[in-house]
Formats: sequence, C-alpha cells, structure tokens
Amino acid sequence: MSWFTEAWTPHIKFSVKIKEHLYSETTPFQQLEIYDSFELGRFFTLDGIMMANEKDEFIYHEMMIHTPMSVNPQIEHVLVIGGGDGGSVRELVRYPSIKSIDMVEIDERVVRACQTYFEITTTGLHDPRVTLMFEDGLAYVKNTKKTYDLIVVDSTDPVGPGEGLFSMAFYENCYRILSKDGILINQHESPYFEKESTEMKRAHKKIKSIFPIVEVYQAFIPTYPSGHWLFGFASKVYHPILDMKTPLIQSIGYQTKYYNKELHVGSFALPNYVKNALRDL
Ligand code: SAM
Repeated sequence: MSWFTEAWTPHIKFSVKIKEHLYSETTPFQQLEIYDSFELGRFFTLDGIMMANEKDEFIYHEMMIHTPMSVNPQIEHVLVIGGGDGGSVRELVRYPSIKSIDMVEIDERVVRACQTYFEITTTGLHDPRVTLMFEDGLAYVKNTKKTYDLIVVDSTDPVGPGEGLFSMAFYENCYRILSKDGILINQHESPYFEKESTEMKRAHKKIKSIFPIVEVYQAFIPTYPSGHWLFGFASKVYHPILDMKTPLIQSIGYQTKYYNKELHVGSFALPNYVKNALRDL
C-alpha cells in the first residue's frame, strides 16, 4: 500500500495511506491527482498539495459561505473565484434568496475531474443560477462590468496560478466591483508555519489598506498545514459580529455539520500571537 505525502515544511511531512490512485492529469495549469484513502475517503491534490477530502471538506466550505450569509441575508449576486471542486457553490445554492452565482475558475480540468471522481462537492454546479467561467480570476475582476454583493476567493496558495489572487490589483478590483454593502471572503492561509504565516500577513496588509472593515476568523481543518486555518472577512459596511443576524441557513432548515451561530462569533476570537501578527502590519 502506498502513501500520499505532503511536505508542510522542509522538516514536517503529512502522509495519508492510499487505497487507490483514481486519476492523474497534467492540466495546462497544475498537476491534478485524485486518490481514495482509508481514513479521509476520496481526496484531490493540486501540485502535490491537499485541496479537499470527503472527511473534512465541509468545515472549510461551511465557514467560507455561512459566515457572510449570516451577516447580510440580502446577498443576491455572488462571485466565486477559484473553487474548482464546487464546494463553495454547493453551500451557496442552499439559499433561495441568492439570484446568481458566477464561478470563475482558471482550470476547467479541475471541475470536470471533480464531477467524475470527487462528486461530494460538485452537487451545486448544475443549479440554473450558476454560471461557470473558465478564466483567470485576476483578469475577470479587472474587466467585468458586473456588481456583486459577495465575492468568495476560494483559491489555491499564492503560488503558480493562484499568485495573482493575492495581489493589490486583485483586491482593489474586488472592492470596485462589490456593491455599496459588499463583503469579500478569502482563504487567508494560516498563522502557524512560516510559509503560510508570511502569506497571511502579506494578504492581510493589502486588504487592510483597501477595506474599512477587515477581520479574520479561524477554523480547525486537520488536513491543512498545522490544522489552524484562517479566513478573511473584508467589508464596506458590515461588521461580522456586530451586524450578525440569526443565521439564514437555520431558517432554511439545513443542518450544517460545522457552522453555528456561537461558532460564528467564537471563530473571530483569535489567539494573541495571531492578533499581534495581524495588528502590527
Ligand atoms: N475549495 C477547496 C478547499 O476546500 O480548500 C480548494 C480550493 S480550490 C480547489 C482552488 C482553485 O483555485 C483551484 O481549482 C485552482 O484551479 C483555482 N485557481 C487558482 N488560481 C486561479 C486564478 N488565477 N483564477 C481562477 N481560479 C484559480
């Protein structure tokens, strides 16, 4: 039996015992692999980095989507940048109040391979409100004439195709195409290891220079480097806790597996070492 191994740092590795290597493709943008495993079920990687697995993908996707949706239940038009596995879109389509979801994913091969081998996250992609666009998110936010109430940046790390999604120009264009009460949510890396912490601070500093309200919240995702993962909440008018409403997801009657209103508030209570790292930027 073989193992999938990801180097979290030059001195720390994360390994998963493989049942079967289901799919492999060198796409025009990255190396895509899909496995089946004993403990995490199916999972897929891009350029050797764990992206999502059947066991814990709900944590990331619920926290990305139900947090902003509980602050502004009037959100109607949503833009998802990246999110090739469809997990963010799956959580968004649960809301009848959402009128349109544009998903701008640079690599169509990720979507198609997940639709075949990693279906758990792809169930929302056929919703009639969803429009799939296979292009660079950096160019899209620069050129689009549309306005959005929520932008979700469900990106890879800031290397390779994902690098531009952590740039000043990207965040400035996100601000420009957001409505007057718009919210930006982004995958905000992690405070624990040097590499992700550096990327977290770089992104935070840029977002803080553009948006009036910028907060960071956390979730514990065991299969991401260190397990301590962050999300950015940037907004033009709403504060994620002071303006939080009764979670709309509850009134829809959907039973989330991770997100709840107490956790919504608690997730913004960061450890002092993280608060200090973000404050001094
Ligand atoms: N949603 C998953 C999770 O649970 O964390 C992983 C993130 S998703 C797979 C990241 C996606 O961002 C990939 O499908 C990748 O192709 C896409 N991506 C990277 N750079 C991009 C860019 N510049 N524009 C649009 N999509 C991009």
